[in-house]
Amino acid sequence: MTQQVLNASIQKTVEQFTALDEKICHYGNIMGLLGWDARTYAPKKGRPIFAKAKGTLSTEMFKLSVSQEMGDYLETLTKPEVFAQLDSATQACVRERNKDYNKSKSIPSDVYNEYVVLASNANDAWEEARSNDDFSYFEPYLEKMIEMKKQFAEYYGYENHPYDALLDEFEPGLTVEKLDPLFADLREKSIDLLNRIQQSGRKPGSEIFNQTFDVEKQKAFAEFIIPKLGYDLDAGRLDETTHPFAMGINTGDVRITTRYEPENMRMAIFGTIHETGHALYEQGVNADYEGRVIRRGASFGIHESQSRFLENFVGRTKEFWTYFYDDLKQHFPHQLSGISLDEFFRAINCVEPSLIRVEADELTYNLHIMLRYEIEKGLIAGDIQVKDLPDVWNEKMVDYLGITPPSNRLGVLQDVHWSHGGVGYFPSYSLGNLYGAQMLNKIVQEIPDFYQLIQNGEFMKIREWLRENVHQYGKLYTPAELVKKVTGEELDASYLVEYLEQKYTKIYDL
Ligand code: ZN
Repeated sequence: MTQQVLNASIQKTVEQFTALDEKICHYGNIMGLLGWDARTYAPKKGRPIFAKAKGTLSTEMFKLSVSQEMGDYLETLTKPEVFAQLDSATQACVRERNKDYNKSKSIPSDVYNEYVVLASNANDAWEEARSNDDFSYFEPYLEKMIEMKKQFAEYYGYENHPYDALLDEFEPGLTVEKLDPLFADLREKSIDLLNRIQQSGRKPGSEIFNQTFDVEKQKAFAEFIIPKLGYDLDAGRLDETTHPFAMGINTGDVRITTRYEPENMRMAIFGTIHETGHALYEQGVNADYEGRVIRRGASFGIHESQSRFLENFVGRTKEFWTYFYDDLKQHFPHQLSGISLDEFFRAINCVEPSLIRVEADELTYNLHIMLRYEIEKGLIAGDIQVKDLPDVWNEKMVDYLGITPPSNRLGVLQDVHWSHGGVGYFPSYSLGNLYGAQMLNKIVQEIPDFYQLIQNGEFMKIREWLRENVHQYGKLYTPAELVKKVTGEELDASYLVEYLEQKYTKIYDL
């Protein structure tokens, strides 16, 4: 392929734009490190003080992204005849920076400042409300937050539904029109499958986890499995935190965190595998993209597809535990004595409607998400009022999962997202499952011995497939383009539906 030669003036603009992009990324790398520190080891008393320094840095970073120079470069580089001549990585960087620029510019700075203050106060109010099980305390903050989000949607602009403007922040290009049928299909089939599971009379229990598992041993096991899954410890590290996350500071420094509790060994194992999935993604991005805005994952949903792929499609299979169960037993000989591989496998895959999203199994998890999606959509469209939320929440819990939360703390107040303005985020979690299942279908076609590889502990081949097909591209493609490129098709709910159907038919003898 011949590379088009850009004229000297455009070449110069590309270089200046790339240098500015890199400068913003450098701020981002440092912000990432500060964020990691605040959520892991920073002393409690220093955190609020340091948060101010972080605020200063973040303001500087924001100013660069909406600066006059950035505007000038983008004006030149987005001209169709110029854009067409750029290489694909630069095109993607221009696309991303331009989007960011227009969005940021669309919100008047006084409105944005009001929003930042509200998000901080609303978050405090939510914590207070949750601990006292008092929705009315959070209600005025949430009302204001929803008002501001509606206003943001107008500033950003949308074609059909105002919620589209908010969804786009997390899943570029996704709309209510595209998402509704995907979720409708998944919801109907999931509820039907759940009913059949509940009527099956089989109840594989998870009682074996109601024991105490030594934290040091959990830690040793987590450290034992992550390099085997392909996580590069020379380009990352594993630490402890309250709310686990993965953080890509740069392509050579992608850290994961986890939480160990004596009474909750499953969380440490599957949480660690989940975050490892996120980390493999960022460790695998083309190193040439370092210092460019496309260094990150394609979207929240695609990122989540990688974590869930590893956690569920690899980590919850019989083959995975055929390989690892003896090692786990060596770590916990007393707790797991007399528990067969089969019993263990069923215990990590039992399905039970529950109140809390983050503790839900693979099947009911999506129902928790769809409930939140319906509520968010209704709030933004004005069909649902904030004051009615506890009732709406509880009614939907009955419709979707057949259970009623005994309190708002275990219901509408359980998630942090809305308090800090994360409206439009929830669908990403289920999209991750949908994208992941469609990729699973493809990988099994291309690597027919996929499950045999897992059983042999040959995870590198799987990581290489993901790296080659997904990870290396970073943000080069939009989520829809990437899914099409990887699987040859548009996103289709039938792959996840089929996966769930097959999985639970076997486990529950349906
Ligand atoms: Zn995740």
